[in-house]
Amino acid sequence: MKLFEYVRAASPEGAAQAAAVDGAKFIAGGTNLLVLMKLQIEAPEKLVDITRLDLNQIDKREDGGLTIGALVPNSDLAADPSVVESYPVLSRALLAGASGQLRNKATTGGNLLQRTRCYYFYDTAAACNKREPGSGCSAIDGFNRILAVLGTSPHCIATHPSDMAVALRALDAVIVTLRTDGDRRRIPIGEFYRLPGDTPQIETALETGELITAIELPAPPAGRHLYRKVRDRASYAFALVSVAGVVSVEDGRMASAALAFGGLAHMPWRDPAVENALIGERPSDAVFAAAADALLRDAKGFGSNDFKIPLARRTLIASLRELTGEA
Ligand code: SF4
Repeated sequence: MKLFEYVRAASPEGAAQAAAVDGAKFIAGGTNLLVLMKLQIEAPEKLVDITRLDLNQIDKREDGGLTIGALVPNSDLAADPSVVESYPVLSRALLAGASGQLRNKATTGGNLLQRTRCYYFYDTAAACNKREPGSGCSAIDGFNRILAVLGTSPHCIATHPSDMAVALRALDAVIVTLRTDGDRRRIPIGEFYRLPGDTPQIETALETGELITAIELPAPPAGRHLYRKVRDRASYAFALVSVAGVVSVEDGRMASAALAFGGLAHMPWRDPAVENALIGERPSDAVFAAAADALLRDAKGFGSNDFKIPLARRTLIASLRELTGEA
């Protein structure tokens, strides 16, 4: 392993300032970063340890929402009574991810920043634009079974691995950060992640040294909540396709719908066209099929991941049946 400098931060401001140099990384749970460092995929010159910062509370807000500290462990967040009762889509998404041991260690902020599980990203002998910009993408003509069918580019077809982030996208979460100059930012999750374009190595809107301090949830949305994850085995596997949904039905028609998708794109995917195809309509398979058409209108497979397109269609329709009581 390459030598690096280690700094333990005593305050969020000190952490951001300590990380205000290229090559610095924050470390908290380390469940992804340490693996990447051992494989020499990540080789930070400086690690800023934020584990002792006071960022591990879950607080109710006056507007009925929650503020979740960036260091709240995934297990604690999944089990928090307010989350279980009012945001079950989030609790279920968290429990669908990783393993019990990893959820005990992994933090809310770190979960957002997981790197892709593309096989070639982890293979330092393979070309990968995300790991080594300009080197090419081995996955496009390679084994791409777990990779993206929406929002891809000729430079990268990776997927984002987080389940939690998919639920947060459906819930319109806001990421609260602290910049190195002391300014705070509130970034809607829809603006936090980036599509790969021609710079797949840049995955979020975060600037150098910018620290995630909290995640804000708006007041709980009305309706039935669901997180459905399709994967190769029943636990400890990443999503091939997942759906996080909150749908309300009033007087026999869908009054609101929030739907986000995992396993399909470089970021948790949400498309207003899907929700527009549902709102105001009576639940039926024909309406659900129109929503699936909207979701997949620009989907493109790359060979071994072609199956994801019909799988996403079936998963969305099954999810909508359950969300609207039409199952
Ligand atoms: Fe790398 Fe992205 Fe291509 Fe995978 S899909 S090899 S992460 S550039």
